[in-house]
Amino acid sequence: MVSQEFIGDLRAIVGDKFVIDRGSRLDRNSRDAFWYSPILKPQLEEKKADVIVQPQTIDQLVQIIAKTVKARVPITPRGAGTGNYGQSVPIHGGVLISTKEMNNIVELTPEFARVEAGVILYSIETEARKIGAELRFFPSTLPTATAAGFVAGGSAGIGSIKWGNVWDAGNILNATVVTIEETPQIITLSDPIALQGIIHNCGLSAIIADLTFALAPASPWQQYVAAFDSFDDALRCAEELVFDEDLLTRLVAVHEWPIPSFFGKLVNANACPEGKAIILLHLTLSPDEVATKIAGFGGEVTWHSPQAGVHKNSIELTDYSWNHTTLWAIKQDPTITYLQDEFDRERVHEQIALRKAKYGDAVIEHITFSKAGGVVRPVGLTLVRYESDEQLLGLMDYCESIGILQYSPHTTYLDDDGRWSGQPILDAKAEWDPHGLLNPGHLRSQENAT
Ligand SMILES: Cc1cc2nc3c(=O)[nH]c(=O)nc-3n(C[C@H](O)[C@H](O)[C@H](O)COP(=O)(O)OP(=O)(O)OC[C@H]3O[C@@H](n4cnc5c(N)ncnc54)[C@H](O)[C@@H]3O)c2cc1C
Repeated sequence: MVSQEFIGDLRAIVGDKFVIDRGSRLDRNSRDAFWYSPILKPQLEEKKADVIVQPQTIDQLVQIIAKTVKARVPITPRGAGTGNYGQSVPIHGGVLISTKEMNNIVELTPEFARVEAGVILYSIETEARKIGAELRFFPSTLPTATAAGFVAGGSAGIGSIKWGNVWDAGNILNATVVTIEETPQIITLSDPIALQGIIHNCGLSAIIADLTFALAPASPWQQYVAAFDSFDDALRCAEELVFDEDLLTRLVAVHEWPIPSFFGKLVNANACPEGKAIILLHLTLSPDEVATKIAGFGGEVTWHSPQAGVHKNSIELTDYSWNHTTLWAIKQDPTITYLQDEFDRERVHEQIALRKAKYGDAVIEHITFSKAGGVVRPVGLTLVRYESDEQLLGLMDYCESIGILQYSPHTTYLDDDGRWSGQPILDAKAEWDPHGLLNPGHLRSQENAT
């Protein structure tokens, strides 16, 4: 617990309006989307911060950190709180620093956007489009997620087929971080190795004050839904589109029936014929060109929009992709949860057939594509009809046994995630968080050491 005097000091730094120390706002803003996981839900449901503070400037951020470190109170950074693994849940209470109010776009050119931590990704995309640029890739939470939350807690998304993920060099060009010391330092990072110390750090090694994203030239994206008789036909068609290096693809997401039936607006638009698999697409091709490309796989276009990214009373297929698919599914059936799979590009059909043979309808396929380290691979945000922890953990073990790599969304520990940067984060944490106050409870190696 923190004292009233301590909370008063925080109020003096940021103003009354930007401190939350009670009520449903405290509860709500201490949570993220961990409830996707039936394993994490009971672990995290009751956790909350003692106080939430929202700095509006880097100077206020520094003052808050100095005060909190002197009191040796845990600190958890947070953006919009849309993470899926409880990354921004203050497991040991203390001060939750929300950087959402640090929300200025500092510099924007067709090549890069330098933004404060709390800028919503949609704002970057909208402003970039005005000067002929766009985000290289973004999560399906584009309208809500913050810049720092995505880089510190996310991985990949729409656009990752071409541009890869947050770890890939050249996507994040620069970051300003504040260290967790009695006299906090403000450090600028631009070396790709040093940046690995904060990329997907789950708020563990430093607080990000601002970031520079490399941008891409804007493309005239069109949106399509295409329907197929079987999931296998749809997947083969998707592979043909994704692996064609002459084709610009921003989104290719393949959904097995009954997933399309969960997408209310698309069902109402007659985009999801009963029993069929669908692909959601962002391409720059015309309707005739798309119809020709998919015809060989028995596909037909069931819905088309000549524009993408409007997000105002329009259908945006990104709202049904990546982990939004899981959200729509859970809304229909709360027993559903999910896996994060990485398939072997050469064996994906065999791997899916093996898993189907063993688990049947308990597993529903959702495959999208993402580049990592220069190679595009099919990745699954596979839906699972959850029965028990043993069933879910057994399924993940089985997937690993047939070569489907698992990045478990059912653990709060960053070091359980095979994709994490490892030593650069541990080194950064040792140097910048010498008292171990930052987001405690999210590193298994640290728990075991204490
Ligand atoms: C419906 C849904 C769909 C999603 N789709 C995707 C997707 O397509 N791709 C994807 O990668 N993820 C996805 N996610 C996960 C999540 O939305 C994204 O990763 C998002 O970018 C997180 O941003 P946020 O602002 O909500 O971060 P938060 O959830 O607030 O924070 C995420 C992590 O970053 C840390 N953090 C936040 N701000 C700072 C800071 N200033 N300094 C240091 N650390 C900080 C937090 O401590 C936490 O560990 C999805 C989640 C949901 C619920």
